[in-house]
Amino acid sequence: MPETRDLYEEACACIPGGVNSPVRAFRAVGGFPIFIRSAGGAYLHDHQGRSYIDYVGAWGPMILGHAHPAVLEKLRGQLGRGLAYGAPTELETEFARKLCELVPSLEQVRLVNSGTEAAMSAVRLARGYTGRDLIIKFDGCYHGHTDALLVKAGSGALSMGAPDSAGVPAALAELTLCLPYNDTHAVEQACAAHGARLAAILVEPVAGNMGLVPPQPGFLEKLRGLCDATGSLLIFDEVMSGFRVALGGAQTRYNVTPDLCLLGKVIGGGLPVGAFGGRAEIMQLLAPDGPVYQAGTLSGNPLAVSAGLVTLELLQQPGCYETLERYGAALTQGLAEAAEEAALPWATAHVGGMFGYFPGLEGPVTHFKQVAACDHDLFRCFFHGMLKRGVYLAPSPFEAGFISLAHGDEELQQSLEAARTVLRELSRAPRAGKTP
Ligand SMILES: *Cc1c(COP(=O)(O)O)cnc(C)c1O
Repeated sequence: MPETRDLYEEACACIPGGVNSPVRAFRAVGGFPIFIRSAGGAYLHDHQGRSYIDYVGAWGPMILGHAHPAVLEKLRGQLGRGLAYGAPTELETEFARKLCELVPSLEQVRLVNSGTEAAMSAVRLARGYTGRDLIIKFDGCYHGHTDALLVKAGSGALSMGAPDSAGVPAALAELTLCLPYNDTHAVEQACAAHGARLAAILVEPVAGNMGLVPPQPGFLEKLRGLCDATGSLLIFDEVMSGFRVALGGAQTRYNVTPDLCLLGKVIGGGLPVGAFGGRAEIMQLLAPDGPVYQAGTLSGNPLAVSAGLVTLELLQQPGCYETLERYGAALTQGLAEAAEEAALPWATAHVGGMFGYFPGLEGPVTHFKQVAACDHDLFRCFFHGMLKRGVYLAPSPFEAGFISLAHGDEELQQSLEAARTVLRELSRAPRAGKTP
C-alpha cells in the first residue's frame, strides 16, 4: 500500500502542487492530503483503508451524502442513453423549470459548468444590461476565479480594487470595489461616490468562503435598497448557500430577492453544474436573443442535469432543512462547550447545512479581518487531531463546514467525542512551533 506521502509526491510530479484546486493541498495545515478511494453516506474512505466522517462534502454539493442510491440509479439510466449531445434535451427544461419554481429571483435560468462560469457570465450580463462597468464586492467573499472578481481592497476605503492574483490586469481590477462584509455604511458611501457608474453589487448572502459568516440583520435589505436607488443590479452568489441554508437558498431564508442569482455546488448533486438567472427582461439580453454573448459545449450536460434533478427532488421532501439545522446547532454548540471546558476561545456559527468555527476568536464574527486574525496554529493542531480520530474537516480556517442528510446521531456523538479529546489535549500542551 503506497503511503500518502508517496501518492502526493507522484501527483506533484505531473500536477502543479499535486492538486487540481489549491486548498486540497493542505498548505494551511501542513502535512500531506489524504487520497480518497471511495465515499458513501457521511463517510470518506482513503487509500490506506481508513474511514472519516466527512464535513467537506466535496465543498458543498454532497448534501444527500455520498453515493446516494436514488442519484446513482438516475445516472445509470442516463448512462445507457449517451453522455452528451450538444443539442437541447427535455431534461434541461425540466431542471430549469424546477430551479425557477424553487428560487424566488429566477424567471429564467441558464446552465453552465461551474460557479466561476456563472459569476463571470452574470457580471458580463449586469454590465450589458446597465451599460455601466463598476462592480462592488466584499472582502472575504469568493466568486470563483474570473479576473474581474479576483480583486482585493485597494489602499483607501473608497479606492478601486487591486489584483488578488498575478495575471489579473490592474486596469480590470480597478473596475471592482472591494468593501468589508456586513458594513452597510461603507456600501452607502461607495454608492454615494460611484452609484451612477455602478453595474452591480455582488455578494454571498451567507458568506462561506471566510469560514461561515452570516449576514447581520438589515445588511441584505440595505444592499437591495441601494441597488434600487442607484439603478444597479443586486447579484446574490448562492453557489454555496443555494439549497444549503434553505430550499431556494438564502433569498428564501432572509426574504430578500436579488435581480440575478448564481447557483452551483448542490444543484449538480456532485457533477459539474453551475447556473445563473433572474428576471426574464434581463436574461433575454443573452445570446441568441440578445447582444450579451455566453455559451458552453457541455452546458446542460444530461448526466449532470440528471444528478441535479434527483438531488433537488429529494431536498423538496419535508423536514430536510430542519434536520440539517438541528445537526448544525448540536455540532457547533457541542464544539463551543468542549472549547469552553478546555478554556480555549472559540467562536462558532451555523446556518442550515453549513457551519464554521474560529479558534482563538470570541464571537460574533462579522467580517474578514476578524477571521484572518484567528489562531492559525490552534486551527492546524485541531484539524490534525480530528483527522487522526477519523473526522475530516476543511483543511483551512477560511472554508465553511458542510453537513449532509446522511449525518446522524452516531456521527454527531463521535465527532463531538473526538473534539472533546483533541481540545482537552490542546489545552494542556504548549503548541508553539509544533508541527504535526
Ligand atoms: C465555490 C464557489 C464559487 C466557485 O464555484 P466553482 O464551481 O468552484 O467554480 C463561486 N462562488 C461561491 C460563493 C462559491 O462558494
